[in-house]
Amino acid sequence: MGTNIEHDESGFTCECGLRNDYPNYVQAHWSVKLAYTCACHRQYILYKGTVVKTSRETPEVYDSEAFGD
Ligand SMILES: [Zn+2]
Repeated sequence: MGTNIEHDESGFTCECGLRNDYPNYVQAHWSVKLAYTCACHRQYILYKGTVVKTSRETPEVYDSEAFGD
């Protein structure tokens, strides 16, 4: 849940709001899984035009329902 990365053929928008245009090697390795790190240090896997956020460094807090009362 919560992973909804806006992307298109030429780039994607990070959760931090920064637009990342794919460098040339992404097009050259379209069918290879590539790790891509935004300037904010969030890390993504690019693969055949899909963008999947990885959370290797900072485990996200999943249990958001714990907040509140
Ligand atoms: Zn970012």
